[in-house]
Amino acid sequence: ATAATNADRPLHELPPKLQACAAASSRQSSGSVRQALYAAIAQPDAEDAFFVADLGEVQRQFAQWAQLLPRVQPFFAVKCNPDPLVVKLLARLGAGFDCASKAELQQVLHEGVAPQNIIYAHPCKPASHVRFARASGVEMMTFDNADELIKMQQLHPGAKAVLRILTDDSGSLCQLGLKFGAASESTLELLRTAQRLGVDVVGVSFHVGSGCQSEAAFGDAVMRARCVFDQAASLGMRMTLLDVGGGFPGRGDQSGLAFADVASVLAAALDCHFPVSHYSHVRVIAEPGRYFVASAFSLAVNIVARRCVARADGPAFMYYVNDGVYGSFNCIMFDHQHPSPRVLTCAGQLVDAHAKAASSASGFESSVWGPTCDSIDCIVPSGRLPELQVGDWLVFDGMGAYTICAASRFNGFKISDVVYVDTEHALL
Ligand code: PLP
Repeated sequence: ATAATNADRPLHELPPKLQACAAASSRQSSGSVRQALYAAIAQPDAEDAFFVADLGEVQRQFAQWAQLLPRVQPFFAVKCNPDPLVVKLLARLGAGFDCASKAELQQVLHEGVAPQNIIYAHPCKPASHVRFARASGVEMMTFDNADELIKMQQLHPGAKAVLRILTDDSGSLCQLGLKFGAASESTLELLRTAQRLGVDVVGVSFHVGSGCQSEAAFGDAVMRARCVFDQAASLGMRMTLLDVGGGFPGRGDQSGLAFADVASVLAAALDCHFPVSHYSHVRVIAEPGRYFVASAFSLAVNIVARRCVARADGPAFMYYVNDGVYGSFNCIMFDHQHPSPRVLTCAGQLVDAHAKAASSASGFESSVWGPTCDSIDCIVPSGRLPELQVGDWLVFDGMGAYTICAASRFNGFKISDVVYVDTEHALL
């Protein structure tokens, strides 16, 4: 079933296949993302907002990574989206994992991931979480300060410490360097301190910032990492790990930055500063989060209320939907995103969303608001949409990164469920 064949049909007249699909399971669908959307909204009393996650998209991103960056093993940054099926799939595909806490370590260990394929990539860790890592055999962990080295010496003498260095993240949406990363003036002294304490520093990591907007940042950071490798060598330390962090764009990223361009710059920088001829002993890993999941999740929201505001230039509409800034759209606050909707149903009829969106210039001035009583809970402050009714559905694509993981239940609203599809038969 395609959008064209179903366009403008009342929901209750959806093809039986889609109805059956909805009835068979509300959590899994064997069809496409579009079919799963149609099926879910066709269910009797459908109202709750929901995600459709395509595990096949995660697999395609994994395959693209292997093709364009074969030298770099991806360690998925669990914090970005700890969805259990995403983690299970990536574990099966052979990814490693970047964990930020004991709970994330527990989740990936539970999937049978080998401790050697896990990095505890947080430079400032609670003592009890370090003890848990030790008890679980997880050895790789980052640091950027001397106190953390003392913690490792005392709580995890077998740790393989990774020095997180500061890089230029001025062109990124989330500048993590404000909080973490050893400045270049401090790295030599930190290496000396580690030596004195007997902590084994095995490598260097960096993060160019999440939502990085310039591929050049990766090249520059690899060069800085090489300087620290040279410092270590001058102290007689032989490093074996380079961790190039996260910051890779998802498919269709709003920044316009393409993964292929980042991969090409990064691969060239690795060849230049860590040529295989001299650095074959160095394992190169990365910590992508957004890259794997952003495009795999779409969020459907229902218009639960609306307000028509009379204006001199015609009516404007305020639409109130059932997920918002305190829920999945926290990415507006925390991840600096500007989500933009497409129309799934208009006046109760299924529409060909992309075609209608193209003609939306002829619609009405509209804003889209979340469900809570707070006025900060605004998803789209201004845009043009056709006139929609209470009960209509909007869809936001590219909602897989930094959304569900930080959603709250503020005002008593539930966190949106996930319906899974698997367009590559990757897992289901
Ligand atoms: N690694 C670390 C240490 C992070 O803090 C983050 C994000 O905050 C990531 C990896 C993932 O970054 P991204 O989703 O931009 O790839």
